[in-house]
Amino acid sequence: MENSKFYITTAIPYVNAAPHIGFALEVVQADVLARYHRLIGDDTYFLTGTDENALKNVQAAEEAGEEVETFVDRNSKRFKDLKGALNLSFDDFIRTTEDRHIEGAQKFWKACNPNDIYKKKYRGLYCVGCEEFKKGKDLVDGKCPEHNTPCEEVEEENYFFRLSKYQDQLEDLIEKDELKIIPKTRKNEVLSFINQGLEDFSISRSVERAHGWGIPVPGDDTQIMYVWFDALTNYLTGLGYAKNAEPFKKFWLENPNRIHVIGKGIIRFHAVYWPAMLLSAELPLPKKIFVHGYLTVDGQKISKSQGQALRRKGLGNVVDPFEFVKKYGSDPLRYYLLSKFSPYEDGDLSEERFKKTYNADLANGLGNLVSRIAKLVEGFDGDRLWKLYEESKQKGEKGTTTLLEETGNLWIEKLNFSAALSSIWLDMKTLDRWIERERPWELKGDNKFRKLGKLLTSSTAFNGLFRIVEALEPFLPETSEKIKKQFSGKIAPAQPLFPRLG
Ligand SMILES: [Zn+2]
Repeated sequence: MENSKFYITTAIPYVNAAPHIGFALEVVQADVLARYHRLIGDDTYFLTGTDENALKNVQAAEEAGEEVETFVDRNSKRFKDLKGALNLSFDDFIRTTEDRHIEGAQKFWKACNPNDIYKKKYRGLYCVGCEEFKKGKDLVDGKCPEHNTPCEEVEEENYFFRLSKYQDQLEDLIEKDELKIIPKTRKNEVLSFINQGLEDFSISRSVERAHGWGIPVPGDDTQIMYVWFDALTNYLTGLGYAKNAEPFKKFWLENPNRIHVIGKGIIRFHAVYWPAMLLSAELPLPKKIFVHGYLTVDGQKISKSQGQALRRKGLGNVVDPFEFVKKYGSDPLRYYLLSKFSPYEDGDLSEERFKKTYNADLANGLGNLVSRIAKLVEGFDGDRLWKLYEESKQKGEKGTTTLLEETGNLWIEKLNFSAALSSIWLDMKTLDRWIERERPWELKGDNKFRKLGKLLTSSTAFNGLFRIVEALEPFLPETSEKIKKQFSGKIAPAQPLFPRLG
């Protein structure tokens, strides 16, 4: 496989509250992709961050009786702390209040075709929760159906972006998968939205309405940039777009693998507004947008405010990724999020089901297999076996593909994380059955040692433990590390990887 470059981002969440477990899903998916590409030798860059210029951050700070800056600093840090809790491998974390972002967003505004930005008097209904203007037909009893709150009537002179101009071009790019939207159902959703006709959208607001918070429009200090217009540019500013830095050139301009991971609720901004903005600024578009469903907890939707309500109901430890990980560890949570529902549809997390999965797949499945094998090969020289395994890979017994790559071929195109994990778990079952059938411990002499060694290094009759451990690494990095450690030096039994939950 030829090595290439790979750039991956998550959406940047608002910081009006601490992170909930729904965002954990997205950032873990992106992390698996980043780790996978690093492991197959791609030059990889993984960016995440926080969206701090939204009006709803300002309102949340005012409600908390705090300075906006103090408030966003604290919440942004909680998002950054997910790195430790979820074992994330992001390379950088961009905050939209940083100078490098502010300068970059302003540079981008100026880079857009001047004919695409114009000023117009406008009157509309704005939902602060959504940070977008709503049409009368979208409202239920005058309220935003997503937030169940009345919209704010706004009348002012704003800058507009000429989205309508890009209708045909966008349709064409998406139709032909030059901008590929995964899964296909989401692609169709975007195409049907475009087909209804694209209208120009407002990209600024008055300083008063923004409560003086946000990024000033270049050359007009009465106006603040629309929060989405600035936020979307984070995918460039995080790479050093403002100063035309090396990572920007390397990972955006000269790299065909640019992928955004987002939730289904913000698809229009990423698959319509953002590509049009990039076309206007004559910059390359993302190559792929992967759209995941929402995570519910015990069947209930978790928005940030609902997260607080769930916390009050005592479901807080399920909603809060930090609490959850403290109780069960990061790999078990990663495993559940990645394996237990379709990556494209909504999925549900219940503590009950989580525990069942943990016991069945991790304690009894992976955990048992590893301790069983450790017992069988106790006292073997792990380092020597790893060396043998590496040599067999070099010799190309099975081409030079590792199980990591083989599994990758199954899922990477469609980003089907759960299919990848099912296939690895199937390999573990095969290995387990082989032990059952061959009873290698009953053999004598050299034959016995050869057979037992195969349990770890085989890449022919079945996938030995070392191949499985490599394939698991992007998904369960901590576990993979622990197994490698246990099987290096003189192999000895160890504490169970996943003690059974009662
Ligand atoms: Zn709303």
